[in-house]
Amino acid sequence: MFPAPLPADAPWIVMKFGGTSVATAPRWRNILELAASRRAEGARVLIVVSALSGVTDTLKHIASQGDVGDRAAQAKALRERHHALCDDMQLDVPANLHARLDDLATLAADGYAELGELPWSAQVQAHGELLSSTLGAAFLTAQGLPTAWLDARECLHAVALPNQNERTRVLSAMVEARHDRTLCARLAELGEVFITQGFIARDEEGRTVLLGRGGSDTSAAYFGALLHAARVEIWTDVAGMFSANPRQVAGARLLQKLDYEEAQEIASTGAKVLHPRCLSPLREPRVPLLIKDTNRPELDGTVIGPEVREQAPSIKAISARKNITLVAMESVGMWQQVGFLADVFANFKKHGLSVDLISSAETNVTVSLDPTENLLDSDAVAALAADLAKVCRVKVIAPCAAITLVGRGMRSMLHKLSAVLAEFGQLRVHLISQSSNNLNITFVVDEDVVDDILPRLHDMLIGAGALRTDDSLLFGPAWQTLYGTVAEVKPVRAWWRDERDTLLKLAAERSPRYVYHLPTVRGQARKLKALASVDRLHYAVKANTHPSILKALVEEGFALECVSPGELAVVMATVPQTTPVLYTPNFASRADFAAGLATRATITIDAVFPLEHYAAMFAGRELMLRIDLGRGLGHHEKVKTGGIGSKFGIPIEQLDGALRLAREAGARVIGLHAHLGSGILDAAHWGEVYGQLAALAERVGSITVLNIGGGLGVPSHPGEPSLDVDALAQVLAQVRASYPQFSLWMEPGRYMVADAGVLLARVNQDKGKGTVRYLGVDTGMNSLIRPALYDAWHDIANLTRLEEPATAMYQIVGPICESGDILGEDRRLPESKEGDVILVAQAGAYGAVMSSRYNLRDDADEVVLP
Ligand code: ADP
Ligand code: ASP
Ligand code: MG
Repeated sequence: MFPAPLPADAPWIVMKFGGTSVATAPRWRNILELAASRRAEGARVLIVVSALSGVTDTLKHIASQGDVGDRAAQAKALRERHHALCDDMQLDVPANLHARLDDLATLAADGYAELGELPWSAQVQAHGELLSSTLGAAFLTAQGLPTAWLDARECLHAVALPNQNERTRVLSAMVEARHDRTLCARLAELGEVFITQGFIARDEEGRTVLLGRGGSDTSAAYFGALLHAARVEIWTDVAGMFSANPRQVAGARLLQKLDYEEAQEIASTGAKVLHPRCLSPLREPRVPLLIKDTNRPELDGTVIGPEVREQAPSIKAISARKNITLVAMESVGMWQQVGFLADVFANFKKHGLSVDLISSAETNVTVSLDPTENLLDSDAVAALAADLAKVCRVKVIAPCAAITLVGRGMRSMLHKLSAVLAEFGQLRVHLISQSSNNLNITFVVDEDVVDDILPRLHDMLIGAGALRTDDSLLFGPAWQTLYGTVAEVKPVRAWWRDERDTLLKLAAERSPRYVYHLPTVRGQARKLKALASVDRLHYAVKANTHPSILKALVEEGFALECVSPGELAVVMATVPQTTPVLYTPNFASRADFAAGLATRATITIDAVFPLEHYAAMFAGRELMLRIDLGRGLGHHEKVKTGGIGSKFGIPIEQLDGALRLAREAGARVIGLHAHLGSGILDAAHWGEVYGQLAALAERVGSITVLNIGGGLGVPSHPGEPSLDVDALAQVLAQVRASYPQFSLWMEPGRYMVADAGVLLARVNQDKGKGTVRYLGVDTGMNSLIRPALYDAWHDIANLTRLEEPATAMYQIVGPICESGDILGEDRRLPESKEGDVILVAQAGAYGAVMSSRYNLRDDADEVVLP
């Protein structure tokens, strides 16, 4: 049954449908349903449509070419396309659609002689939207939703701004849109559902003008402001604004809620999903804007509104704009010349070109021109360059791309961007600019590198904790999760969620406590045991020496690796005599070596000193040498264990000397070892190490074993990719095929146990200081020092209130008398109360083993779940 008529003051909802959303009959059926449902909600509906996808390109083509025959052919093709769509919609071609198609054919045949080139071009291009809206009105009405066709040009009046030239006025016009009560009243008398065109307006001379490519979004926003709509909905081919263009970065995350400023920044730096001009009309009247997928209306989408929420400082998006033109202008001693910049920029104004980024030096000013804000064609740029050449030397660099990181408070995040900056360090960067509103930082690079680098940068930002995917109020699912484009890598559900009741009971008995989950340890072990090319896996026991973990790993077929007499003692007391043991102490004393020699362990020496001063101890023994390959890797400076800045290993140039000393002492060097650092996620790394060690070993002769170390990374942030074990298997198989004569050993530590352990603590206090809230728990850096030492990121949950909404933002701190006693910064948790159990995840590695008695606080004890 059709709903009762609407009152005159019913709220308005503006719904804009983009090119792909209006291109097929099934999409139009979605439009019908969506518009009808908004009407049923009690709102007046204004539908704003783009041209069918690709049509504006064809019209632009018609408007740009000389040959009349070609123009006619293109117009005919458009006629056929619209007829075909009518057919699919089971709609007789309406008479007014015929009439518009005839108009277009006439315009194409006539050329611009009569109207003038620019107005003619605008007239031609306006037909895309005129046609789609005419078709839409007929279809919706025929389907039982009476829909009135509205000429957008009657409502949107372009204003000529002094800084615009004729081209911009006609092809990229601006409208001043304010709440127009008369229009609202007039439309309310006319009907309830309307359809109109995006992209077009009328200027003061009564001519049809355009709002710039992609300008239909802006039309919708202008209408939103004119009608003072309850909201504007942008319906497109993707469920909202994402943290990167999802067509380039499949792991891009849905941004669920943004304020106008941030959304504006993301749109203007390249997220085509929203036209950069479409937010400003909505700001003042505070009309919210929603972005939704026409084909998947059930998905949440992005809501953009005035509220600036309290949140962790985070990069929100990484955007890229291609087709950027740089104009570099050189003049000798320009700062001495009063008015030089004024002269230069006057030329940009004259050619109607708006400058985006600027960087300057003593003798050079370089600026960028962005195609979304400019009607860039080579003629415009050439004309500009010719004029500029009169005042300075000019160089035009194109095509470039601008890659921008967007987020509120960018300057406070710089310390998290070191990996990203290193990546840019490998490229030719033409210009770097940090916006003065502190919302973005932009790098201009050659255009061809963008597609390759973008997904990598996005992963890096997550890994560095700069893009805070843990903030579930802001970051929704990844695009590939929503759209299932690749076999979805389901994040493994953390074991502690299933063991919640047990953990709560354990915490009630005693706190703080470490709890280890042996099935998780065994699971990791089995993943690595599948590496067919690895002959022996040693668990680096320093990560966690709990006897149950040692036993479990030995049962899974692991050997062990120790770094101190203390570790050797625990290992020897815990595991069977048959388990092979490696002993790799660093800056060890004679006594440390003696302790190792008293056991069956194979000793790795990582310095020349012991061989120079007490080599006789090693007579008759088999030794390994740890080599420094000259570089370190890892998630933090402090975990890099190679290169001149690190104390580990024998430098390559000292290898021959070390071998000679060992030989003279009667020891046999059977292996070479290298370990470059921790937290490595790139599978290729271990292949490189093997290759380098193999090349050295071939020279030595006596070597039978290459130990390529550990350092296998464990991702800590939601959405961060994990180490690809299949890729590692392939890499190792390849290098083994090249050097089949050596046995291959590895020594993972953290990888085996990190996810298997959690630290349980209980809330002591909550304290507010200004806008910052501290949540204090009963243990801190004395139990888990990784956050303080390495800025390590551990997921933190309130186990007592796991199902409550995470609405509070806390700094999670311990009771130790140090300002660095922080377990997690800016964590979103439910409102937490004294006594709640807080769980710090991924604490199985380098947790208890690194704990201290600092402040003489009690140790966390350790509990094992079998
Ligand atoms: P419409 O024709 O509906 O106006 P557009 O093609 O103009 O649609 O905009 C939607 C497209 O914007 C998406 O398909 C996507 O390729 C692109 N896009 C670029 N950056 C982003 C981003 N950060 N989030 C979402 N979409 C983006
Ligand atoms: N049809 C116009 C264009 O393709 C406007 C739009 O779709 O937003 O640029
Ligand atoms: Mg668009």
